[in-house]
Amino acid sequence: DSESQKLSLFYESGIYYFDDSNAVFVDPVRVLNRSYNGFRVSPSAYYPRFFESSIPKPISTVTSSPTKRKRKRKRIAKEPPSLNDRELIAVQRHQEARPLLLKGHECLLQSAELLEALSTLKNDSGCCKRECQGAQHSFIELRQEAPLLEVMLNLRLDAPEQVPNDLEDSPSVQCCEHIVLPAFNNLVANDTKVEAVAEILNNRYIIPRESCFYMSDLGQLRNLIPAHADSGFNLIMVDPPWENASAYQKSRYPTLPNRYFLSLPIKQLTHTNGALVCLWVTNREKLRSFVETELFPAWGVSFAANFYWLKVKANGSFICDLDFFHHRPYEVLVLGYSPGKVNSSGNHSSFKPLKDDHVIISIPGDYSRKPPIADLLLDYVPGLKPPRCIELFAREMMAGWVAWGNEPLHFQDSRYFVER
Ligand code: SAM
Repeated sequence: DSESQKLSLFYESGIYYFDDSNAVFVDPVRVLNRSYNGFRVSPSAYYPRFFESSIPKPISTVTSSPTKRKRKRKRIAKEPPSLNDRELIAVQRHQEARPLLLKGHECLLQSAELLEALSTLKNDSGCCKRECQGAQHSFIELRQEAPLLEVMLNLRLDAPEQVPNDLEDSPSVQCCEHIVLPAFNNLVANDTKVEAVAEILNNRYIIPRESCFYMSDLGQLRNLIPAHADSGFNLIMVDPPWENASAYQKSRYPTLPNRYFLSLPIKQLTHTNGALVCLWVTNREKLRSFVETELFPAWGVSFAANFYWLKVKANGSFICDLDFFHHRPYEVLVLGYSPGKVNSSGNHSSFKPLKDDHVIISIPGDYSRKPPIADLLLDYVPGLKPPRCIELFAREMMAGWVAWGNEPLHFQDSRYFVER
């Protein structure tokens, strides 16, 4: 029947489209796996959280059992009794998003087969060797201590030219080219049709086919500005290290004050045909209004829509109460268009209108790790296909993308993968 057909499509693509809805469910592991042939992202390494309950709980749109909720309420306040102007705007934004989120969630709750599949997403079925010895490198510290650090890139020269799936039939004797390159402030590219293995000190990193990374501090980002705008980017994904009060966050990666993001060279990175710019923001109202009134204008980006990422547990319930004031079970992706060059008739390219009605549902991975959702945006990306894509402040890589940040190899460490 149609539901099991949709489920098998989901197992292939990692995306489940609900009928008559702009809500989708995404399994990042399956989406990411499309970037690899000889390796797979390890589900148990991707999903360290939100699978705690092995006993299925009754599903409801409410987060947890009444007793648990009571306990939580003591710690996390719902809307404070008297609200200042900014808080009122935040409440209003939440009220606008709420029906959409509930509708999307309802779609998930009504898909019995998908719900059943959720509980198995963390299983490493059929996976072989997983490496996780030794410590993970902190590239932020390494850049200070060993600025001249090198990376050895092992490229497969016998990689099939066309269809990556042919790899399984290719000879087992591998013909490799080993290239030693500076690890920092340098564009390291895997131009082959299969993943490459990069070595830094004693750790291995899996580099997707046709992808590259540039590991540097913000100051060197300008080195990625193309000489000609027609080799600029059509899709620019940005997940800035916004300042955040949480001590836990502070121990994960350094943050930057908002003013640093005003000078990101979005205009200069934009392709002649324009770019779709996608910016992850937190629910803090101060930040939302900064983006709308200062940041997008400074970048020359016109606002197009808000998309919502709704976070659920393996049993389908929200990760926290939908109406907690300081902690919401969703994040917002703000989309806008960066105009390319004015064409010969004096016009900017015209961009496809976008609606605020997309809800992307997934089970969150590691702290602050965002789901890979580029597939859902492709219809709106200006220019020729396949689009040229760049992620700013990236911690992982994808086939066909340029990843920039001070730790773009973080989730490429072989400990997050299993070998086929
Ligand atoms: N999108 C990523 C993901 O899904 O895993 C998360 C990105 S995280 C919010 C922000 C990243 O920006 C962190 O990796 C952090 O180390 C990096 N960052 C912080 N300060 C930076 C700087 N000055 N230059 C470059 N990257 C920086």
